[in-house]
Amino acid sequence: MENIKNAANLIEKGELVSFPTETVYGLGANACDSDAVLKIYQMKKRPDFNPLICHVAHQDAIADYAVLKDLDMLLAQAFWPGPMTLILDKKQNTKISDLVTAGLNTVGFRVPEHPTAHQLLSAVNCPIAAPSANVSGQISPTSFEHVEAAFSDAVYILNGEAPSVGIESTILRCHDQDVEILRPGSITKEMIEALIGRPCLERMSSNINAPGQMTSHYAPKAKLILNNAQNDSADGFIDFGGQFKSLPENIPYVDLSPEGDLSEAAKNLFATLHKLDKCASTIIVAKIPDHGIGIALNDRLKRAAAPKDDHAR
Ligand code: AMP
Ligand code: MG
Repeated sequence: MENIKNAANLIEKGELVSFPTETVYGLGANACDSDAVLKIYQMKKRPDFNPLICHVAHQDAIADYAVLKDLDMLLAQAFWPGPMTLILDKKQNTKISDLVTAGLNTVGFRVPEHPTAHQLLSAVNCPIAAPSANVSGQISPTSFEHVEAAFSDAVYILNGEAPSVGIESTILRCHDQDVEILRPGSITKEMIEALIGRPCLERMSSNINAPGQMTSHYAPKAKLILNNAQNDSADGFIDFGGQFKSLPENIPYVDLSPEGDLSEAAKNLFATLHKLDKCASTIIVAKIPDHGIGIALNDRLKRAAAPKDDHAR
């Protein structure tokens, strides 16, 4: 509890705190303090047109800042606390910094489930704006050590239970009766469609060009070859469900889920990229089934494999 108190004090003083959530580790600041939010952009080298997600302990805390319509409420009731972000209309004269929303009239909110994140959010009297705690464009952090390696002692890091999901939140925008998936995640299209009783909309918002949506993102230094394509210079392998047979011994190799469980694979994805990036320069990745959370896994892998010059910092 002492750590939570320290972290809450730092947030209220306008400093940054990194904390674990069920998705990845976040780099948080008081969302109503522009000077504090600016530090996030500087530390991450994040482009300033890329808005941040605000985190609160309870859905009720959103009312001062943004409007939840009926469909948002339905989604919130079903999936909060949890790994879902809703893009909401910002209220007029809200205290949320314009830096958080990159000047948009919408704002992203999430109610995390992770106990440490929940304790921190309950201990402060402001929403916490928090992107992933990594340098923009690099691999997302899923452990204390990943954050430490990215920022050493420049930021206070709360330790806690490992993220149970391991990839970033599903981002949704409601339009009257329809739900648009802006970023796939572990709350899947199938789960949302079962709840709302109609198909989700194909992505249609084009007014935002954000790193989570850039072609190259979550990128290791190594070259990634997807879908088990042949490559003679491969010196690392990422498997799923034991697809690679008879590999040479001692070659860097990780199976994201020997049982072929997509949730387990998502949980292991970023840690595996961090690990293999240290010892391999060309990594072949097995085929990942493109359904359920596999859609989010393939989304992150495609961005991790894209040529780096597609990454506009
Ligand atoms: P992350 O980088 O994981 O913190 O996720 C932030 C992402 O949330 C951004 O890259 C956007 O894709 C999305 N986002 C946040 N706020 C908004 C907003 N107001 N409108 C649209 N997308 C948003
Ligand atoms: Mg990120």
